[in-house]
Amino acid sequence: MSTVFEKIIAGEIPCYKVYEDDETFAFLDADPINPGHTLVIPKEPHKDIYEIPEASFLAVMRTVHKLAPVIREAVGADGINIGQNNEPAAGQEVFHFHVHIMPRFEGDGHTHWQGAENYHEGEDGEKIANQIAERL
Ligand code: AMP
Repeated sequence: MSTVFEKIIAGEIPCYKVYEDDETFAFLDADPINPGHTLVIPKEPHKDIYEIPEASFLAVMRTVHKLAPVIREAVGADGINIGQNNEPAAGQEVFHFHVHIMPRFEGDGHTHWQGAENYHEGEDGEKIANQIAERL
């Protein structure tokens, strides 16, 4: 099922385009946390981090790397967050892989990965690291 981002790439829905190359497309988020909040997407419609092929992922990250310092300078940001959500539990709303470039300003009041009490790893750390490592 096609998403709103495919319609943006096709020009069927308007956007403020920031950048485009053969593999990727970047445009301003319609509900920005701050001025310059940009989304970078692959032109191919891969759903999320699990489905996107490595080459397409790397093309997106190349564009993120190119745009982040330019956006920072363009809006006079004090910092940049890079964000990428997968599955509704992690806040994904549009099921076409995308990376958020989010300019931040001192005292802007936004928080990132916060809002609930953090998990305290305690003695589980070694077990969890092993559960990950043994699957690689
Ligand atoms: P996520 O929650 O990571 O899936 O982010 C989806 C993002 O897409 C949100 O920040 C929305 O504001 C943004 N978005 C949804 N529709 C549009 C649109 N038509 N143009 C620009 N950004 C959009």
